[in-house]
Amino acid sequence: MSDYDAIVVGAGIAGLGVASQLQQAGKRTLLLEMYSRPGGRMQSYDLPGGYRVDTGLHLIEMGDKGYCHQLGTRVGVEFEWASFSTTLDLYQDGEWRDMQSFIRLTEEEKALFIEVMKEVAAMEEGDFRAWDNRSFDQWLDVKGISGSLREVWENMSMIMTTIPDTREQSAGECLYIAREALRKGRAVLIAAYPRGGMGGIIAPLAEAFQKMGGRLELGRRVEMVVFEGRKAVGVKVAREGGNPIAREWRVPSTDLVTAPLVVLALPIWHLDKVLDFDQRHSPLPSWWLKRIEDIRGERTGLLGYIVATRRPLYERTVFMSALRSPRTGLPFQAFAPTAFDPGVAPPGRYLLVTDNVVEPEEVEDKFNRDRLLQAHWEDIKEMYRFEDGEVEFALPYFTAGCDGLARKPGLTGDFKPDVQAPGVEGLFFAGDTYLGRGLAIEGAARSAILCAERILG
Ligand SMILES: Cc1cc2nc3c(=O)[nH]c(=O)nc-3n(C[C@H](O)[C@H](O)[C@H](O)COP(=O)(O)OP(=O)(O)OC[C@H]3O[C@@H](n4cnc5c(N)ncnc54)[C@H](O)[C@@H]3O)c2cc1C
Repeated sequence: MSDYDAIVVGAGIAGLGVASQLQQAGKRTLLLEMYSRPGGRMQSYDLPGGYRVDTGLHLIEMGDKGYCHQLGTRVGVEFEWASFSTTLDLYQDGEWRDMQSFIRLTEEEKALFIEVMKEVAAMEEGDFRAWDNRSFDQWLDVKGISGSLREVWENMSMIMTTIPDTREQSAGECLYIAREALRKGRAVLIAAYPRGGMGGIIAPLAEAFQKMGGRLELGRRVEMVVFEGRKAVGVKVAREGGNPIAREWRVPSTDLVTAPLVVLALPIWHLDKVLDFDQRHSPLPSWWLKRIEDIRGERTGLLGYIVATRRPLYERTVFMSALRSPRTGLPFQAFAPTAFDPGVAPPGRYLLVTDNVVEPEEVEDKFNRDRLLQAHWEDIKEMYRFEDGEVEFALPYFTAGCDGLARKPGLTGDFKPDVQAPGVEGLFFAGDTYLGRGLAIEGAARSAILCAERILG
């Protein structure tokens, strides 16, 4: 008899989502997380003085009409949304302006815009598939979109993909994200902020899982998935403490935990830490191992600041974007969490979160990263017109793998790795790097739903 019916590795939104659905379906589920808190890339920290900050710029596409919300509802959690962004503000010629006022369209362009929007709203999965292997740049060309209308689309597709260059963006994914928003009655790229930040999603999910009887173990790093022949039968978990010499030499002592079902809810770039990628020994087929190795470097990076000030630097409940910020020359995004939820800062204090979209290699190089962060800091002082003396605190942050598999041509839709491992029994995957369309958190939530459906039938 196995220790559990299912083991889920990784307590990000996807792992919490799959684990809760399995537990709800009557499977005795163990959820293992290597860090001391659940949430993965979605974290909120309570700072001294009454601030609550997320790890970087985080808004959730679609809010109550999206897959994140649907995932919560499935496991009996009703997320509370603080506010929705009302529009997109763009930065040009030293000013922030509402997207509407930015677009100066001729009558002919207006007609084209309406026609294109209608066409996008009517698109189906087959249409996205046809565009998954082609760039957004190609789609804009085919539709004859140019001038300021093209610039607005370029801003939106940069936010949708976290990729600056339209030639590198998957048209299928951009069109899917736009279609979802249009169909569900929201303007394109209207995003929501959960009350209390990302913790407002993670904490209730973790609580719901445990209330159902699921077991969540924190600070438990999985070292490897254990197979018997071509069947996953459990995992080896690093043992706390252990032999000091083994610790020094990083040869962990492990405990074996068994289950006939293992779900790896971690990004594909962490799979080689828990699965043997040596084709001579791995139970997984060589084509799959090769595919994962080929695409695991396809990530996107961000760096930016969380800034607390004594006066609001931006009061509108909007998402802000610029194709280039003045000094870094990189795509820029920002929003003011306190405009969405004043409860995330003490009275009379305000938060702004900013980022530049960067190649992962650029943030991995610490000298380059520092140079970019300095330039970014000067950029935001210029863009929001503040002085160092007005700042309560400024927290720099960066990530080389922010939101899933890069949404490039040939990497979206069915090109993403499936939620079920091929050629072996009992091994599944969930998270933003696996099957499931949509912006990062939405994609992760959708893959958690797909994964549980595949397991439970
Ligand atoms: C700075 C930043 C800004 C972002 N902004 C947005 C945004 O505005 N909108 C949006 O939609 N998305 C955004 N994202 C992306 C979003 O956070 C992710 O898409 C989402 O959180 C991914 O969830 P996940 O469950 O798939 O993976 P993760 O959250 O990465 O969860 C994986 C978990 O597995 C654990 N783990 C890994 N290896 C092991 C192991 N061996 N043993 C045990 N546990 C392990 C990790 O610790 C982690 O908790 C942002 C991400 C970052 C970093």
